[in-house]
Amino acid sequence: KVRVRFAPSPTGPLHIGGVRTALFNYLFAKKNGGDFILRIEDTDQNRYVEGAEQYIIDSLNWCGIAFDEGPGKEGKFGPYRQSERKHLYKEYADELIANGKAYYAFDTAESLDEHRKNHEANGKTFIYNWHNRLKLNNSLALSKEEVDTKLANNEPFVIRFKTPENEKLELNDIIRGTMHIDTNVLDDKVLFKSDGMPTYHLANIVDDHLMEITHVIRGEEWLPSLALHKQLYDAFGWQAPEFAHLPLIMKPVGKGKLSKRDGEKLGFPVFPLSWKESTGYKEEGYFPEAVVNFLALLGWNPGTEQELFSLEQLISEFSLERVNKSGARFDPDKTKWYNTQYLQAKDNAEIATLLMPTILSHVQETHPLAKQETVERLVDLLKERATFVKDIWDLADYFYVAPKEYAPKAVKKQWKEGTPDILNQLVSVLESITDFSSINTETIVKEWITDKELSFGKVMPPFRLVLVGDMKGPHVFDIVELLGKEETIKRIQTAID
Ligand code: GLU
Repeated sequence: KVRVRFAPSPTGPLHIGGVRTALFNYLFAKKNGGDFILRIEDTDQNRYVEGAEQYIIDSLNWCGIAFDEGPGKEGKFGPYRQSERKHLYKEYADELIANGKAYYAFDTAESLDEHRKNHEANGKTFIYNWHNRLKLNNSLALSKEEVDTKLANNEPFVIRFKTPENEKLELNDIIRGTMHIDTNVLDDKVLFKSDGMPTYHLANIVDDHLMEITHVIRGEEWLPSLALHKQLYDAFGWQAPEFAHLPLIMKPVGKGKLSKRDGEKLGFPVFPLSWKESTGYKEEGYFPEAVVNFLALLGWNPGTEQELFSLEQLISEFSLERVNKSGARFDPDKTKWYNTQYLQAKDNAEIATLLMPTILSHVQETHPLAKQETVERLVDLLKERATFVKDIWDLADYFYVAPKEYAPKAVKKQWKEGTPDILNQLVSVLESITDFSSINTETIVKEWITDKELSFGKVMPPFRLVLVGDMKGPHVFDIVELLGKEETIKRIQTAID
C-alpha cells in the first residue's frame, strides 16, 4: 500500500512551498488509494519554535489536506513526533557502529572550526571524510581503550556515517531520473549527537523505514541528502522508498527561490495563515480552494490547457511523472486570478453570508440593506468586479452610506446650470411611482425623458452622481431598486438643496 509523509520541522510558520509539498504527497496518496502521514521532525531542539506545530496542522486543515495519521490522529505507526520517538534512534546508530558503517568522533566544535578556517584560508573547503579521517579525533584514529575511556568519561561525541571511498552511487528519482555520484566527494555526516538526539538524517531514515513509507516526496533542497539517505538504507539492509524531489518555487522576478522577503517587498502572502506580523492567504481573503489550485500548478502540469481543478479533480489527474524538473515561477497576479475565478463561481447566497460580518461592522442589523436577500442581490450586481469578498464591500459602500461629497471631476463635468431643475422634476416623477423595481422605474423615467424631449445625457449622469457620489457602479435603475423610493428621493434632494 502506498504510504507517504509530510515531515516538516516545527521551526516557524509553514511557507507555501511546504504546503505544496504536503499537497503533492496528499494527491499522490489519494490517487493511489494510499495513506498520507504527518510526521513532526522536532529533533533539533535549538530550532524548535513554540506554536509552529499547531500552525502546520491548522494550515493543512484550512487547505483541506487531511492526514490519515499524525499528531492527534494516532495510527499503528505512532507516535508521530520525533521527540516522542527519541528512545528509538540510539540502537540504530549503535547497529551501524557495530557493523562498521559508522563511528564515534570526539572533535570539538572549536577544532572543527579551526580546520574549516585553515582550509578556507587556502581556498579549500573542509570535508570530513575518508581522506582525513585518520588525522582527526575519532574512533578510527584511536585505540579501542582510548575510545572506551572517552566514552566512560562522558566526553562529548557525535556518531558519523562512514562514507565509503571510491564508490559510484546510482540514485533514482521519479522526477529527475537516474543520477550518479562519486562517494569521494561526500562527507561523513553526523547521525547522532551526545545530547541523545539523532540528526535529521538518521531519524528521517529510521522513521521512514518504521512507518513503511513507500515514496518520499519532498523539496529539491533535499536532493543533496539523497546520496547519504540511499547509503543509509543500504547500510541497514533496508529497501529504500522511491524518491521524488519537487522543483523549487522561484521568485516572481529575478533569480532564486521564493522567500518571505519577496512577499514583503511585492506585497503578497507567502504563508497560508497569518503568523506574527505577516498576513496569510486566509486572512487576505483567499479561498482555500483557490490556494490549493494555484499551488497544484506550481511545478505540476496536467498536460492540457485546463487551469481550474477541484481537489477531487486534482486527485484523479495527479501524477509525479507530470511534475517538472525546473523551478516553478511564482506569480502573485495568477494567485489573484484564481481567487477571482473561485469567487465568480460561488453562489450569491454563500458570498452574501461571508460578506455579512463586514456589512454589520458598518451598519446596524436593522438597516434595510442588511437583509440576506438584499445582500445576495447586491452580490449579484457587484461580484464580477471583485477578487475577494471584501472587495464587494468597497464596491457597495455607497449603498449603505449616502455620499457625503461628490467627486469634483464628475461634478465639473455633469453638473450643469439646468441640473437642479431637471432633478427636481425627476423627483416628482419618482414620487408618482409605486412599483420601484428596476425595470419599472427605468421604463417610466425613460418615457418621461422622451416625452419632455430631455436628453439622456442631461438626466442620467447627474442622477447617478447624486446616488453614488461618483460616476461608478452598476446600472442606475438597479441601484434605485435596492435603495428604494425614500432613499433615492432623499439623495436627490440632498444634492439639490
Ligand atoms: N524535516 C525535513 C524538513 O523540514 C524533512 C525533509 C524530508 O522530507 O525528508 O523539510
